[in-house]
Amino acid sequence: MTTNSETETPGQRTGAPRTNRSAGEARKQARTLVLPQTLTVQRLSELLDQNPIEVIKLLMRSGIMAAMNQVIDYEVATLVTSALGIRTAVAESADATASASATSTKTAEDDANLTVRPAVITILGHVDHGKTSLLDTIRRTQVAEREVGGITQHIGAYQVEYQGKQLTFLDTPGHEAFTAIRARGAKATDIAVLVVAADDGLMPQTLEAINHAKAAKVPIVVAINKSDLPTADPERVKRQLSERELLVEDWGGDVISVDVSAKTGDGIDDLLENLLVVAELAELKANPNKPGTGVIIEAKLDRQRGPTATVLVQDGALSIGDYIVAGSAWGRVKALGDYQGKPLKVITPGTPGEILGFGAVPEAGDLFAIMPNERAARIAVGKQEKLHADRQNQARALTLDQVVKQIDSGDVKELNLVLKADVQGSVEAVEQSLAALTAEDATVQVLHSGCGTVTESDVMLASASDAIVIGFTVGNEPSAERLADRMGVEIRHYNIIYQLIDDIEKALQGMLDPVFTDVIIGKAEIRELFPSRKGAQIAGCRVTEGRITRGAQVRVLRNSEVVEETTIASIRHFREEVNEMNSGTECGVTLQGFNDFQEGDVLEAHRQEPGRR
Ligand code: GDP
Repeated sequence: MTTNSETETPGQRTGAPRTNRSAGEARKQARTLVLPQTLTVQRLSELLDQNPIEVIKLLMRSGIMAAMNQVIDYEVATLVTSALGIRTAVAESADATASASATSTKTAEDDANLTVRPAVITILGHVDHGKTSLLDTIRRTQVAEREVGGITQHIGAYQVEYQGKQLTFLDTPGHEAFTAIRARGAKATDIAVLVVAADDGLMPQTLEAINHAKAAKVPIVVAINKSDLPTADPERVKRQLSERELLVEDWGGDVISVDVSAKTGDGIDDLLENLLVVAELAELKANPNKPGTGVIIEAKLDRQRGPTATVLVQDGALSIGDYIVAGSAWGRVKALGDYQGKPLKVITPGTPGEILGFGAVPEAGDLFAIMPNERAARIAVGKQEKLHADRQNQARALTLDQVVKQIDSGDVKELNLVLKADVQGSVEAVEQSLAALTAEDATVQVLHSGCGTVTESDVMLASASDAIVIGFTVGNEPSAERLADRMGVEIRHYNIIYQLIDDIEKALQGMLDPVFTDVIIGKAEIRELFPSRKGAQIAGCRVTEGRITRGAQVRVLRNSEVVEETTIASIRHFREEVNEMNSGTECGVTLQGFNDFQEGDVLEAHRQEPGRR
């Protein structure tokens, strides 16, 4: 799904005022009204420039009774907009599911209720650079054990208190998990800590992690780890970072970097202090007085306790007794616990916790919301399933052709790419050529580039960021191909840089030629040759596969090599002229402008179909 959240605020009408459009009407239709995930009936009528009474009437016609200041969700709002023939898009937000809380009876959001919430932090970086060690050290040094010898629970997230403030750490390090959650529509992380081993420097996964964090527009704090090693060279790391447009403070930039050692604990305080600073700058606020919304971090079926889930509450509060919905799972919260297993009555924003009470196991990355009662929860599950299916369908539509249409209608202003090529030289060459492309309406944004085959991580990033994957003289890992199919991500392969650049340029200008694939419709083998009365040769054939049709494009193959490319002029079955012959039948065939058949030649009838390159 693509919305205009970066450039447009909810409620703004967007559209490309392209001068080359023929009718004003077409322009009008291309306009999209971006709506927030929840809004009051009053606000909707203002945005639509309609009398609220009219809006209430339209809702009633759809079977929904709503008062003027009732909060409705996006889907309900679309009942009104579609009745008025207005195209809409939903504003991107962390809590798409918050829509489901529309019918809730709890208090509506009020700015006065906003309070500062803890930042949620994910640790990213190359394998073996010390992500897990850092998480362990922070936990070990900062979290006071509640009981002597108490078992430290691992529920997928934990919290530390530093200088009287809370910080939440997600316990699954790495950009794969980070982007997988994003690909499901949630934005769980506020700050990314990029761990770089001081003795090793920037490695391929460090670069991936940087690009994944940048694509998510999450601030990065660099932790230069293993500074205890005699071979540690933090200056080299900083120089390498500067080459990746991450200028640390010593280098005149504004990226915070801290030398740490997960082994000795040196620098950990400094890191936490800086994380608090970045959190402060991000002004993370939430309203704990409304029904909770957030994301499922982990979930499993516990044999004794039933489905258990680790949730991260992002806004509002989650309490015992609440009806909760996440994806296609719902339930009534029976018990809540913090990351150390301590029972809680309420979980507040920015805080992780474990919950019991789901009827089924929700999926990690699912968004959750609170419902006022069981009936609403059941209805919301149905809605969620539909929303999920819609998302899947929308994702499937994200091909370059689709992007071209969206650019053309003004819905998309950035063409996001993930680029993989065989060697660094090719990566740079392609990137430079792409950078030279300019268009009035859209720009190219390479979210990530690198050497090697297309991986699952590339596909995940593309899915999370509405991007297209480009493989330049490289193939796909089979698992990446399966994932791309499942998530509806388009992978385009090129061997010639000119073609690649040409396609992207055309896409930017909203005029990509359709892509065609060659589909073989049938094959026939020449068994005998007959002279025709007009002096031409008739090929006596047996159709061996599919069918051959009059007028079809045909290749003449001799020893598997193409000797002629033409069309089928006529097909005769006994004495009769026919239009087509199927596999297993015999017929006489003449070709347009070609007589030079030999016995044993194969005729391959084919056609061009729109499809993937
Ligand atoms: P991950 O793959 O990024 O999670 O890395 P790990 O946390 O598993 O660490 C990889 C290896 O580096 C382990 O052998 C750690 O003991 C070691 N290691 C991690 N941090 C440090 C550190 O600060 N100093 C030293 N000397 N070794 C470390």
